[in-house]
Amino acid sequence: MLKPSVINQLEKIVGKESVLTAKEDLATYSYDGTTTWAHPPDIVVLPTTTPQISEIMKLATANLIPVTPRGSGTNISGGSIPIRGGIVLCTTKMNRILNISKTNLTATVEPGVVLQDLNTQLVKENLFYPPDPQSFLTCTIGGTIAENSGGPLCIKYGVTKHYVLGLEIVLPDGYVMNIGGSTVKNRTGYDLVPLFTGSEGTLGIITKIILRLIPKPAARKTMMAIFDDMTLAGNVVSRILAKGIVPAKIEFVDNFVIRRIEEKMQIGLPVDANTMLLIDVDGSPAAIESEAQHVLDFLNEGGAKLARLAKDENEANVYWKARSAGFAAIYSAARTVIAEDVTVPRDRLSDFIKKLDEISKKSGFAIVLIGHAGDGNIHPSVFTNSREKEDLDRLQDTLTAIFEAALELGGTLSGEHGIGLEKQRLLSKALDPMAITFMKRIKAVFDPNNIMNPDKIWEPS
Ligand SMILES: Cc1cc2nc3c(=O)[nH]c(=O)nc-3n(C[C@H](O)[C@H](O)[C@H](O)COP(=O)(O)OP(=O)(O)OC[C@H]3O[C@@H](n4cnc5c(N)ncnc54)[C@H](O)[C@@H]3O)c2cc1C
Repeated sequence: MLKPSVINQLEKIVGKESVLTAKEDLATYSYDGTTTWAHPPDIVVLPTTTPQISEIMKLATANLIPVTPRGSGTNISGGSIPIRGGIVLCTTKMNRILNISKTNLTATVEPGVVLQDLNTQLVKENLFYPPDPQSFLTCTIGGTIAENSGGPLCIKYGVTKHYVLGLEIVLPDGYVMNIGGSTVKNRTGYDLVPLFTGSEGTLGIITKIILRLIPKPAARKTMMAIFDDMTLAGNVVSRILAKGIVPAKIEFVDNFVIRRIEEKMQIGLPVDANTMLLIDVDGSPAAIESEAQHVLDFLNEGGAKLARLAKDENEANVYWKARSAGFAAIYSAARTVIAEDVTVPRDRLSDFIKKLDEISKKSGFAIVLIGHAGDGNIHPSVFTNSREKEDLDRLQDTLTAIFEAALELGGTLSGEHGIGLEKQRLLSKALDPMAITFMKRIKAVFDPNNIMNPDKIWEPS
């Protein structure tokens, strides 16, 4: 419960219209993309400038009030949930694209810019910002930086951290710090930009971002392949990479998800296919002509029942629209859906798929698969019911089995969603204890009062 004097001061800083305290509003900001976590804040503030954020943080520090940064709240780790109450600082009103430089290939944006809005502007300039989390219609650039998000294109183009050149950060004590800059090369002291990229809002508030852009690839070709056996589809991915071709995207959709998408969209997906792979190659028209032919050959040699090139841009768009709808289709399929993002080395994908099948049979939970086969991140999604206690207990064991299987194969706990609240109980299984010690020390250096998105990433001690 905040003191009335603190509420008054927050209203003075951002204006009454940008402060929310009604029970219904607080409930709206109590949850995110996870289905099992929720906690209301005491207050929500929606600042419009960096100086306002600096004042909010000074006030929070003086009164030791926890502050949880939030963009669109689409994360799937519990990252934006104000687990200790306090202030939710939502950046969605800071949504200006400040500059797009065609000559330096950079964009400078406020944190609340929605990714799709940036993409729409860039297309007009024939420019390209590759990180493409499948929440792109809603998620903010600030949220994607804090989560170091990635999507289908990361197999060829990398993840968010590869495109962040400079950041303006408001530290927990209100100091406004600038790190990095507008240059592609920057070797001036320790590089703090990647430290904040992926810091899940636990070190400071990102208030301005300078992004690296690239020219839009001149052309692309989309291929669709179907398989009778999932493990064959997994094998073919490493086969393509081993032959020296790096497609722009290789995405994986299992039969349940194919049918579910088709039920919702009726776009003519192959509903009898056990597994579908969607593959894009992009670049110069001449280069992709032969790359696409090679990929089709590898798909056929690798046991595809059918492998074909989309006949035109329309058909390609239909496939990718279907893929983007995949998560929505999954989330509406059960009362509680845990969409995991464990990731394995690409050449262990088939082993992981086999392991997941065993875990599903043993646990009795349906586990469906959709995701980024090209980078080993295939989102095993477990269907359950959070209202049934017995289901929840069994669920924890099943998730642990999935994490352990990924780690045994040389994989990692999270490829893109982060740790937040969701995975902290498993952090010690995935990291060297000394690495966790240093992470805690880094947190204490930036946030000595532990007010910045507290109790995230590792369990509170
Ligand atoms: C349907 C669906 C599909 C998705 N697909 C993908 C995918 O393909 N790849 C992927 O990586 N993720 C994916 N996600 C997860 C999620 O969309 C991303 O993590 C996204 O980047 C979060 O952006 P957001 O604006 O919603 O941030 P929020 O959810 O609001 O916040 C995310 C984290 O960032 C922190 N934060 C937010 N803004 C700031 C700021 N300005 N300064 C400091 N910290 C901040 C928050 O405290 C929180 O810890 C998906 C989610 C959904 C629901």
